Amino acid sequence: MTSFYVETLGCPKNAVDSDKVVASLLADGLVATSDPAAADVVVVNTCAFIEAARQESIEVALALSDVKRPGAQLVVTGCMAERYGDELAAALPEADAVVGFAGEGAIADVVLGAPRRKPVGVRDLLELPRPAPRAPWAYVKIAEGCDRACAFCAIPSFRGKQRSRTPESIEHEARELVDGGVAEIVLVAQDLAWYGRDAGEPGSLAPLLHRLDALAPRGLARIRLLYLYPSEVHDPLVHSMLDLPTVVPYFDLSLQHAAPGLLRRMKRWGSGERFAAMIDDIRAREADAVFRSSFIVGFPGETESDHDALLGFLADARLDWAGFFAFSREDGTAASTMDGTVADALVRERLRECDEVQDPITAASRMALVGETVDVLVDGTDDDGALVGRTHREAPEIDGVVRLAVPRGGEHFARPGAIVPAVVDAVAGPDLEAVPVVEPTRRVREVAS
Ligand code: SF4
Repeated sequence: MTSFYVETLGCPKNAVDSDKVVASLLADGLVATSDPAAADVVVVNTCAFIEAARQESIEVALALSDVKRPGAQLVVTGCMAERYGDELAAALPEADAVVGFAGEGAIADVVLGAPRRKPVGVRDLLELPRPAPRAPWAYVKIAEGCDRACAFCAIPSFRGKQRSRTPESIEHEARELVDGGVAEIVLVAQDLAWYGRDAGEPGSLAPLLHRLDALAPRGLARIRLLYLYPSEVHDPLVHSMLDLPTVVPYFDLSLQHAAPGLLRRMKRWGSGERFAAMIDDIRAREADAVFRSSFIVGFPGETESDHDALLGFLADARLDWAGFFAFSREDGTAASTMDGTVADALVRERLRECDEVQDPITAASRMALVGETVDVLVDGTDDDGALVGRTHREAPEIDGVVRLAVPRGGEHFARPGAIVPAVVDAVAGPDLEAVPVVEPTRRVREVAS
């Protein structure tokens, strides 16, 4: 029997693609292994977001090429294969096949047919089934591609225009995950709130949330949304996020900067003033609302006053979580030929200043929870055997976690997927430490291992 191993790099959207690659290969009779040295086929799902991510993807592919056994196939897929097909195949002779996601065939045909030195496409992964869940939370990708043209971003050039899944298909996938033990569903897309526009149905995200919320009786406890373009955060969506019992008030806003002139140069909507008004309005309605965003520092033409506008916005908006990234010049984007390069040393200095403003704000947001009773959705145990989980304030794999003070071997106290009310008694960096106050209130089906 042919065995395979999949290594995933990059963002949550890539993780969903990997899940579907795994499910597709299993359905076609291959068997999974967690040991790349024992696999007949080693698949690397790459990330092409910025130069550092591409470099890491290549390094991982080369490392796996070294450890795979003689005769095993190395298949490179994901965003780098999409974006640099021929170029990548030529630059990486170690790869037996370079596989995009935009063709017609099944991935097993490609994998079993390796070696193929020419890039080939496989069926769009969006509608493929996925394997049994490994955790009590799961990403669900509701659309692929993006209709925008942000000046710094190459994603639309290789992922294409947005293609939304039907609500029925998303609900079906979510129901299967919930029946398999998933208690938290994290909806992802390149531009989540744009969902449905390509099908002529703008504003479809709120109705989708209502549809998914109806899965609560089956065991769905939380729905979380990632990547909201700020101009699309309209009232019906905000209402759904604040009113539906399963949808958590966690606003992951894709802001990128605060200076209006620079945002126009980025070909993006908004200003620090508008973002702050939106955040204030939501906070006035829901004190427990949580805000996260990420920002690009050193975009071409970013002036000292643009940077000050960003620092001022951060100080005023008091986001719970924020990430800062140095601008990366990507081939084929509008920004790749823009003048006004910001020197590396200045970018580093500005990144440091952003952290200096934001770190105490995030720390204060965490400290404010000390003494509060929070609902912790148990994810499992960490390497030390401690029970860990998350409140609605922490997105999986992105923010901190909550460590529950229960005896070693905490899995006997609460299974993954249980909700444990607990009092926060300490903060450790981005993480919280908490003491359970009662027995778990809810137990969902055991997650398949
Ligand atoms: S919204 Fe902008 S940054 Fe996000 S994927 Fe689309 S083009 Fe890229």
